[in-house]
Amino acid sequence: MVKAVVGANWGDEGKGKITDMLAEKADIVVRFQGGANAGHTIVNNYGKFALHTLPSGVFYGHITSIIGNGVALNIPLLVEEIKSLTDRDVPKPKILVSDRCQIVMPYHILFDQYEEERLGGKSFGSTKSGIAPFYSDKYAKIGFQVSELFDEDVLKEKLARVCETKNVTLEHLYHKPILDPKELLATMRQYREMIEPYVCDVSSYLDQAIKDGKTVLLEGQLGTLKDPDHGIYPMVTSSSTLAAYGAIGAGIPPYEIKQIITVCKAYSSAVGAGAFVSEIFGDEADELRRRGGDGGEFGATTGRPRRMGWFDCVASKYGCRLQGTTDVAFTVLDVLGYLDEIPVCVGYEVDGQVTTDFPVSCKLEKAKPVLKKLPGWKCEIRGIKKYEELPENCRHYVEFIEEQIGHPITMVSNGPGRDDIIYRESPLKK
Ligand code: GDP
Repeated sequence: MVKAVVGANWGDEGKGKITDMLAEKADIVVRFQGGANAGHTIVNNYGKFALHTLPSGVFYGHITSIIGNGVALNIPLLVEEIKSLTDRDVPKPKILVSDRCQIVMPYHILFDQYEEERLGGKSFGSTKSGIAPFYSDKYAKIGFQVSELFDEDVLKEKLARVCETKNVTLEHLYHKPILDPKELLATMRQYREMIEPYVCDVSSYLDQAIKDGKTVLLEGQLGTLKDPDHGIYPMVTSSSTLAAYGAIGAGIPPYEIKQIITVCKAYSSAVGAGAFVSEIFGDEADELRRRGGDGGEFGATTGRPRRMGWFDCVASKYGCRLQGTTDVAFTVLDVLGYLDEIPVCVGYEVDGQVTTDFPVSCKLEKAKPVLKKLPGWKCEIRGIKKYEELPENCRHYVEFIEEQIGHPITMVSNGPGRDDIIYRESPLKK
């Protein structure tokens, strides 16, 4: 049984917590896209951790954690991340890395920095982890697969060829030091040594696991609105954030994905530039940012303050639809307990017309939020385990949003911990 845990919005919806929670009853957790540019925050018995490459199940002894072929693999960072867990007494996790996974090269990170410098104020707000140059090279067919680390002849020939083209850009566009293929070869040898214990034919491993009836979780990074095709292009990430891509990025048949859990946060936050229709500013935003998530809404990787906004029904309805949602996990609801009234964005006004359909990027820039205020519940809801025990206004908030987005909210998260979850029967669940 394969389940995907993905985001409906701009990322940071709390996928890490939901994956970590579901991992208790799973066997395998797979990362299928993205790289070390975003992070998941997990709170458990060992403490609070920010994961960047490792899937969120790594804290359980029974879980096999897999880095699928769709991931941008930064080998030194992966090794460092594993060490950061074992240094804090987490038992050494069982990790497998696809032999078809491609490697983030040191020059990808440099190119990311140089390009941001060159673009100045017009930059895309990259985290400078090398992700965009990595995926550009992957599709330009000059990327390096993990398997290639084990063939020195291929490596030498390809490094020489790649350096030739990269050096023209380095010298003439960026005016930066050029690459030395010999130095890179030495780095690749180090990478080989670091990654060797984890390399595996992942799609074949998963094929067998599925036949054996194992439960596999596919863990997405970011959310629908950062998808390069369906998101707010060009302010998107470089690999697909959709559950459908989980099949490709893990190497399994699409029909094996039986449950798609789309994580939606009870308010909005976003990092980086791009249209954000329900965005709020000033003291209102500061207060929500300070109270948000678990210890404030600041980037898990970069520490950047996140942009804040009210819940956006238009973006979330679209986000859930594109994911192919079977279940919505509605998170961080506890944070809203301080508000007398809670505005929710129920439509976009574009050129004088109100719509509930998420527009293409050029129209999105012009969209203004249509807000509806719902009554707050003004109390702490952490610790509540039964849906019926939530305050009436709180249930009303959940049910109003469910109706607007048109997908069943079957889980409500009311705290950062594994046990802070309320299961709910939804009238929309088929
Ligand atoms: P992800 O990338 O989608 O996993 O999201 P992040 O980890 O960036 O952000 C989620 C943040 O919210 C983390 O700090 C979580 O510990 C926290 N969190 C998750 N669910 C809840 C919840 O229901 N309530 C509260 N207060 N915090 C939560």
